[in-house]
Amino acid sequence: MTLTAHTAVGIFIGKYASNPFLAFLFGFLSHFLFDAIPHIDAGIFIEKYLYYAASVDIFLSAIFIFCFFRFTRPTHPLKIYWAILGSAMPDIFTFFYSELHFKFLKCFYDFHMIVHCPVKINNPVFWGAMQIIFLVCLIFILFKKKTSQKLVKL
Ligand SMILES: [Zn+2]
Repeated sequence: MTLTAHTAVGIFIGKYASNPFLAFLFGFLSHFLFDAIPHIDAGIFIEKYLYYAASVDIFLSAIFIFCFFRFTRPTHPLKIYWAILGSAMPDIFTFFYSELHFKFLKCFYDFHMIVHCPVKINNPVFWGAMQIIFLVCLIFILFKKKTSQKLVKL
């Protein structure tokens, strides 16, 4: 999935995890779970455009994180930070292996590639749309205010 989608999942996990360690752990594990779902990401672009697509994805993730903290003001932000880091960590490790040639990450990289979208996608438009719908639903849930907060404002 895109980093933006992993970030949204990480925020969701961080919001409901009981402590920062579990937030990081579940964020990390969620990455593999959501990567296994058929999807499209920056990897569909040829190498010439891969860095541009990845840069846009990183930029959108940063905006999403900023907006989440700016507009929801979570009571336990540390859990959310750790969950975001955990959910992004597998792709960070993959970058370190494939681009910076950190050889000790080869086993991790191989595992990530095995788990990553194990079925061949015949309809990338459909799976891209599904990912966008998933992301929009998750954003709606994350930015939805609690009923008690609405009553206070009335
Ligand atoms: Zn991944």
